[in-house]
Amino acid sequence: MHEMALAESMLEIVEQTARRSGAARVTAVWLELGALSHVEPDALRFCFDAVTRGSVADAARLTIVATEGQAWCMPCGEAVPLARRGEPCPRCGSYQLNVTQGEDMRVKEIEIA
Ligand SMILES: [Zn+2]
Repeated sequence: MHEMALAESMLEIVEQTARRSGAARVTAVWLELGALSHVEPDALRFCFDAVTRGSVADAARLTIVATEGQAWCMPCGEAVPLARRGEPCPRCGSYQLNVTQGEDMRVKEIEIA
């Protein structure tokens, strides 16, 4: 499962950050998730709960913040917002788009105790 691998790499980042700050426990995690990433937020949440069990982030609250997708439209010659992959340019209707933002995820912040 794709989300399981992502949850594991999230936990790694969270554990490293907690260790650096000398924290005994992580109580909350904020994650930025691109609108165009192939990640199911509910599945990721489920996996995060599973991998953090017994770790420093056991029972930590996960908040997923969606970040907007963006693409470069060739005909328009500018960056346009893109709600979902496979959709045309909202300005000119062209499908000649290069996704430039919104495909990745990032641990934005953690709350420690
Ligand atoms: Zn366009």
